[in-house]
Amino acid sequence: MAAPPSALPLPAMKVARRLRRLAETLDQEGDGADSLAGLDGLVISSLTNIRYLTGFTGSAGLLLLLGGEATLITDGRYGRQAGEELADAGVEVSITIGPGSEQGTLADAAVRRAGAKRLGLEAAHVSWATQRRYAGEWFNATELVATVGLVEGLRRTKDPGELARIGRAAAIADRAFAQVRPMLDEGPSESEVALELDATMRRLGASGPSFETIVAAGPNAAMPHHRPTGRRVGRGEPVVVDFGARVGGYASDMTRTVWVDGIDDDQLRRAVHVVTAAQSAGVDALSSGVQAAAIDQACREVIAEAGWAERFVHGTGHGVGLDIHEAPSVSSTSTDILAAGHVVTVEPGVYLPGLGGVRIEDTVVVTDHGCEPLTLTPKDLC
Ligand code: ZN
Ligand code: ZN
Repeated sequence: MAAPPSALPLPAMKVARRLRRLAETLDQEGDGADSLAGLDGLVISSLTNIRYLTGFTGSAGLLLLLGGEATLITDGRYGRQAGEELADAGVEVSITIGPGSEQGTLADAAVRRAGAKRLGLEAAHVSWATQRRYAGEWFNATELVATVGLVEGLRRTKDPGELARIGRAAAIADRAFAQVRPMLDEGPSESEVALELDATMRRLGASGPSFETIVAAGPNAAMPHHRPTGRRVGRGEPVVVDFGARVGGYASDMTRTVWVDGIDDDQLRRAVHVVTAAQSAGVDALSSGVQAAAIDQACREVIAEAGWAERFVHGTGHGVGLDIHEAPSVSSTSTDILAAGHVVTVEPGVYLPGLGGVRIEDTVVVTDHGCEPLTLTPKDLC
């Protein structure tokens, strides 16, 4: 028996260079964009971005960047953990511990000590209530500037340590699917299949599923984000299974549409061919330098030619990393351009209300001359 995917060591991640790259980005952006010009500091409040930049995985904290110095402010629950995780990541970040309610006050004190006049906030990660406290209570001597997507921009391009974790997550999901697939023949409920997949991924070394596993049987397969129910899997009907594993914080994402004893319905049989062709067209079009919207178009054209343009009711894909949905977006309205090291999904679908649906999804790494799929489960699962 082959060694389980979790048996091999994962390469260490080079976390320290990320803070340096963020500082460089700020310098560059400051030259061109007025809103970022002359920023004296940045408050990172997205816990995912804090994890990316420091390795810290606690559930509360702020990361303050001031004049080349980084400080993680968190509360007493995470003092020891923060010390260990930051040391493991090899980052030079000092740690300030204080009550959760005073983190803004502590950050403000540091900002005043540094004499910072213009401070960037992460606009997409600050609630209205928190912004009011930032502006009215804490940083009232400082000009607050909204920034968007600074760290997310860096996170698009994965380094080898990140690719290894996403690849491991994808390999675990592949293996879990192969182990769970035979149980479909016994007519289990959607919920039973989802539970078994989740448990199997954990047994194989995942920390858990990367999102709530979707199992949609029969007419339920017409709903792209159906929640598993007690409905049993029947013969001849589609079962859409959309799931992923998480390893070291990183997600994978895969969908397969499977059938027990062949496909009963002619329209659904045709939908399998159309969606398979659309998904291949999208994957074949992927390469560094290609507009993400062109990938969406490549998939959508195949489905439109089959007369089902209105039945492909979502975007073609999304970036995958620490978040299950992150930049870049692969949709008709995306302005993103793909680059080597981006990890994205290609997941067209056709949904026929009352009858069922078909979706096929892979997670792939964009390369200089194409892409490399990470999810490898076969697609001919009739
Ligand atoms: Zn998915
Ligand atoms: Zn997806």
